[in-house]
Amino acid sequence: MNVILFGPPGAGKGTQADHLVKYFNLHKISTGDLLRNEINNKTELGNKIKIIIDQGKLVSDDIINNLITNILSDKKFYNRLIFDGYPRNIDQAINLDHLVKKYNQKISCVLSLNVEKEIIIKRILGRQTCSKCGLIFNEHFYPSTKDNHSCGIKFLVKRSDDNDKTILNRLETYLVKTLPILDYYKKLNLLHEINGKGRIDQIFKEISAILASLEA
Ligand code: AMP
Repeated sequence: MNVILFGPPGAGKGTQADHLVKYFNLHKISTGDLLRNEINNKTELGNKIKIIIDQGKLVSDDIINNLITNILSDKKFYNRLIFDGYPRNIDQAINLDHLVKKYNQKISCVLSLNVEKEIIIKRILGRQTCSKCGLIFNEHFYPSTKDNHSCGIKFLVKRSDDNDKTILNRLETYLVKTLPILDYYKKLNLLHEINGKGRIDQIFKEISAILASLEA
């Protein structure tokens, strides 16, 4: 099963993906994380990517599609992917369709997390990521504790694009470029709408039930 987690920035896609990988033996593919790795490696490409990310715009389809081709062609991920933050526009969605066919796989479902703007902004401003294990926390709603995080708080970092100004640009990019994909997946009968406003465990339960029914 390959699953797409869809929704605006801050909707909780990464958090849900982190929980789902464990229960459904999936591999999380976050294009945002892959791009941030490139930035951390301080390559020439990484420096260019950082400028785009900090403006809240989309990185070019060529760069993204290359990353995704490498993953879909890799047999160790065969039909076991959970996409977080991809596809982000119609051309990427069409490219993904092409690649899943080429590598004899399929998209099992698209889970769209619905959350309103005010909540999104609060979530983004409180977000913290562990630079060691990659897990995502929130200083207000889901703090790192001894029970949920073994690395400890010293590795927690804030993303450079999680600030007031860039958030507004990212939301605008989402509305203009990404949201139209929903109709595309609705027509393919793959779309499940999820209320993304509740607690992490409630949302997880709702999503798990959908994935379990697909596996049955
Ligand atoms: P995310 O971690 O998903 O919030 O992504 C952070 C930033 O990385 C986005 O605001 C974009 O600038 C870039 N990015 C992530 N995924 C994509 C994608 N599929 N296509 C283009 N840009 C992306």
